[in-house]
Amino acid sequence: MEQTLSIIKPDAVKKSVVGKIIDRFETNGLRVAAIKKMQLSKKDAEQFYSVHKERSFFSDLIQFMISGPVIVMVLEGENAVLKNRELMGSTNPKEAKKGTIRADFADSVEANAVHGSDCLENAKIEIEFFFAKNAVY
Ligand code: GDP
Repeated sequence: MEQTLSIIKPDAVKKSVVGKIIDRFETNGLRVAAIKKMQLSKKDAEQFYSVHKERSFFSDLIQFMISGPVIVMVLEGENAVLKNRELMGSTNPKEAKKGTIRADFADSVEANAVHGSDCLENAKIEIEFFFAKNAVY
């Protein structure tokens, strides 16, 4: 069993497709082990995305991530990290496979509906960033 961090980003929360996105996870063997709705502060977003701080789009990405509330979740299941990435689809929704979350719900390469940890090591760091150990069941 693995755990991974998922964020439903401000664009998808605004469009009220939270339930539809969570349904994709649950019907594909990923259980919601923790969940909360929150407004990220600029500091939270900058720290969370610090690996991208040198990228040209960093400040746009931070502004986008704080533009409205997000849903932060821990998903649990077999091969959860990879399974979540497959269900999400490519970063750019134009390149995302048919039937993936980003193909169906994302607007652009920036406003792309969901975040998912890219490896097990980062999943652990990202889960600890948002959830105390006793908040994950
Ligand atoms: P992910 O792992 O598929 O989310 O993709 P990355 O780790 O490469 O990028 C992190 C996030 O930065 C993406 O999910 C997008 O929201 C945003 N992003 C990536 N590339 C671009 C870009 O070229 N322009 C802008 N504005 N945002 C981007």
